[in-house]
Amino acid sequence: MTSKVFWGSPHQTQLDAKQTLPAKLDLILEKLELRQRVKGHRVAIKVHLGNDVGYSTVHPVLVRRVVEAVKEGEGKPFVTDLAHSEATAPMRGYTAETIGCPIYPSTGFDEKWFVTHPYKYRQMEEFQLGGAIEEATFLIDLSHVKGHPSCSYAGAIKNLALGCVTGETRSAMHDVCNYEPAFIKENCPDEKTRVAIRESCPYGGIVDDKEDPDGLHLHYINCNQCMICQDVAGSALVIDRESFMAFLKVNVIATKLVLDTFEPGNAVFINVANTLTPVCDCFGFTGLPVLPDAGVFGSNDIIAIEQATLDATDATSIMEKTFPAA
Ligand code: SF4
Repeated sequence: MTSKVFWGSPHQTQLDAKQTLPAKLDLILEKLELRQRVKGHRVAIKVHLGNDVGYSTVHPVLVRRVVEAVKEGEGKPFVTDLAHSEATAPMRGYTAETIGCPIYPSTGFDEKWFVTHPYKYRQMEEFQLGGAIEEATFLIDLSHVKGHPSCSYAGAIKNLALGCVTGETRSAMHDVCNYEPAFIKENCPDEKTRVAIRESCPYGGIVDDKEDPDGLHLHYINCNQCMICQDVAGSALVIDRESFMAFLKVNVIATKLVLDTFEPGNAVFINVANTLTPVCDCFGFTGLPVLPDAGVFGSNDIIAIEQATLDATDATSIMEKTFPAA
């Protein structure tokens, strides 16, 4: 099966407003026939509104283009994101006046507006999905593409997976990497070896276990699987591929649960791949981009849009001079 992905290049051959990203986004919305599909629908536009002084999230000008298209199609749009991002959104330029529709926290002002979906994965038994998502009948997943310390790439999937759930679920999702203990205490002969294992990692990936003075904790976001520690640790420290993959898998599970709340065909995906920073917008600041802008993408297929975005970024070179030191 093949799916269409519409792409607006970041490049301009003329200094003309028709060649800018907002104009290209308009063309993509036309190609997706968004106006014809949203009539009467309560349309959730899921945007990460960022945190603190970050300014690399999807620009309010682009959000407004999507909002206006929904209104022209006689849909009822609202923008939604995590409660803490919604609460501080005006300081980053997102208000009902600037974007043209209300902004609601996806799980309510106090994270008490959710529906529980039983689903067993590692230590997780359930996922709490936001009421704003559950009550919407059409979804626009409007994502800023960037890097992420745990899953490397963050776009359409991660925008839904972590932005439509309660803090309790989000925290549990981040913890699935630690389901199996990395440090096997019985295989560590003594305290001297335990300390040597901790000190062997050049990236700060191994730290003391806060809950166990005789233990060690593996920080998956710091570990790059170089395996240097294995010379010292042997069987006392397990660098397990499955634990690294767990965060990716739990993102896919949460995204599927979100999408399953919508009728087939009632979801559209837009990736804005500009200001490609190394870490996600939750960090509360904007680092220098590490890849050149790749433009704007639109599709009805979440897998196709992620693949197309990855292919486009893969075709460019890392901007080594702006890459932060390890
Ligand atoms: S594999 Fe490398 S980065 Fe990971 S904990 Fe061991 S030494 Fe650190």
